[in-house]
Amino acid sequence: MSGNGVVDITILGAGPTGLAAAYYAGHRNATVRIVESLEQIGGQVAATYPEKHIYDVAGHPKILGQKLVDLCADQGLQYGADVRLGEEAATLERVGQNGDELLALTTHQGNTYLSRTLIVTAGHGAFEPRKLGIEGIDEWEGKGLHYVVREKETFRAKQCVIVGGGDSALDWTLGLQDTAQPPIRLVHRRDRFRALESSLDEARRLEEEGRVRIMTPCEVRELHGGNGRLEAVTIENTQAKTTEQVGCDALITLLGFVSHLGAIADWGLELEGKRQIKIDPTTCRTSMPRVYAAGDVAGYPGKITLITVGMGEAAIAANNAIAEIRGEKVQPKYSTD
Ligand SMILES: Cc1cc2nc3c(=O)[nH]c(=O)nc-3n(C[C@H](O)[C@H](O)[C@H](O)COP(=O)(O)OP(=O)(O)OC[C@H]3O[C@@H](n4cnc5c(N)ncnc54)[C@H](O)[C@@H]3O)c2cc1C
Repeated sequence: MSGNGVVDITILGAGPTGLAAAYYAGHRNATVRIVESLEQIGGQVAATYPEKHIYDVAGHPKILGQKLVDLCADQGLQYGADVRLGEEAATLERVGQNGDELLALTTHQGNTYLSRTLIVTAGHGAFEPRKLGIEGIDEWEGKGLHYVVREKETFRAKQCVIVGGGDSALDWTLGLQDTAQPPIRLVHRRDRFRALESSLDEARRLEEEGRVRIMTPCEVRELHGGNGRLEAVTIENTQAKTTEQVGCDALITLLGFVSHLGAIADWGLELEGKRQIKIDPTTCRTSMPRVYAAGDVAGYPGKITLITVGMGEAAIAANNAIAEIRGEKVQPKYSTD
């Protein structure tokens, strides 16, 4: 499928829920376009925990995050969905075409996509990493500054400085210490960590072996480099008021993500709280005709935001959207052959 032609269903967000919706839609011979603000598919799973194991997705006793979303993509994209990456949804309007009423989704990148229905699977909304408050920090992206660890191999034999006090910072300190150049420096602005105590105990044990150095209460103040590559960072101990410059090829700041529904919240959809679109869970309909929502972004009393729940809602949303387009009764169609 190519070009900007009218499709049956636009799916907004290529996380596990959006990919599941694409599968169910394709299985029912509906045409699909997926619009995703990130340059990759896989949603939160690929963006924030690709190398962590997940244990609670049905049929997968234990699976790496990236592996799960790769399988979701294999399954969801097999019917040829048109995937548009790097496009953040901005406005939603209703337009008439040849007597049909269509939904027109326009992105911040200036493209307009027409469809008969829309399924919003936007998770927590467009999200971006929380950044260090250092002027010009963005210039270091792609030159040694990382907001996520996608592949452990990227950091092999590198001098790594990890910033953060939560589970991600501790997990990756432990996860990289056997392949990165020792010691990995773990910098946190407080003495107390929010991470699991057992992880912190392990980091302290590794510190005794010289593989890890825990630096608190410390903050990264400056980045230094040449030839377009990061070479060192200046770290301040905010209690002792001392600074130290350490060699650093990879500065990994794991300070969490900030997310916001952004423009979606201004479309006039009834919301559930501040961060979710209100749906009827029996149909996944929102307050707007022909607009459905599923997954983390969809809210109702008692909602549990889990991958499995999002996948179930994806099936409900896609089947209801198709029934609405075709004027049929909603009924499941088994995939077995
Ligand atoms: C650290 C961590 C561990 C977790 N562990 C588990 C677990 O073990 N088991 C489990 O079931 N769940 C777990 N979860 C929760 C799980 O990741 C989510 O429930 C799941 O990712 C929701 O999928 P989704 O497709 O609904 O949303 P998301 O995965 O958030 O995907 C939404 C996508 O929509 C895109 N998007 C948002 N706004 C726009 C826009 N305006 N325009 C275009 N694209 C947009 C986003 O970029 C994103 O790619 C965990 C979450 C975290 C953070």
